[in-house]
Amino acid sequence: MLSVISREGEQQHFSIDFGGMFLLITDGVHLIDKVKGSHSFLVTDPKPFVVDTGLPGQEQVILNYLKQTGIKLGELNGTILTHFDVDHVGSAVALQQLTGCPLYAHELEIPYISGLSLRPGVKRWLPLLVRPIYGKLANPLKIEPVRDNDTFLDWEIIHTPGHTPGHIVLYRNGVGIVGDLLQGGDIRLAPALFTWNASNLDKSVQKLLERPLRWILPGHGPATAASGHWLDHFKRT
Ligand SMILES: [Zn+2]
Repeated sequence: MLSVISREGEQQHFSIDFGGMFLLITDGVHLIDKVKGSHSFLVTDPKPFVVDTGLPGQEQVILNYLKQTGIKLGELNGTILTHFDVDHVGSAVALQQLTGCPLYAHELEIPYISGLSLRPGVKRWLPLLVRPIYGKLANPLKIEPVRDNDTFLDWEIIHTPGHTPGHIVLYRNGVGIVGDLLQGGDIRLAPALFTWNASNLDKSVQKLLERPLRWILPGHGPATAASGHWLDHFKRT
């Protein structure tokens, strides 16, 4: 079941039988079905790559989805991570090992993803509290850095610090793959408890809203058509 919020702000739901089918949200962006933890997206336009990987152990779900869409491993150009949280980077290393594809993240996130630095704030303690999940988290040896204003396979990288120091949004033709900058549906900010820097977060939302937006594809919550009351709420005049 995918839930989509329409342009009029009315919630719409539709089901798709995934037996042999795949789910295209918009403009060559697929929501990879059944990935646990956070949403993982397969972008096919202009070239195939994966955004975020869910919790540890989701690599086979992602590979199965690639297979369903007819994309061969050799055609995949890499995986890019919106930020360092375990529910987004959990299967990145396994996917890298299985596909041989490079891994990308903002340069400020790399020390945290690689395990060289402890995650800031309360997230520092999560590995102790959620040992079964963090115990399965492998640390990559090599991650390619991306930076603000980079172009990644024709998608713009927007550095959107706030939820984490090196959080990024991928933007192209009105479509924003926003990670945990915003949550979908009744669009809102990610919980304050897990926010690294609230004033940065606010600035980052404004930075995203400077661009024309048609779709918000968040890490959590439904894909959301980008207009209506929530946009006015966030937009500053
Ligand atoms: Zn997060």
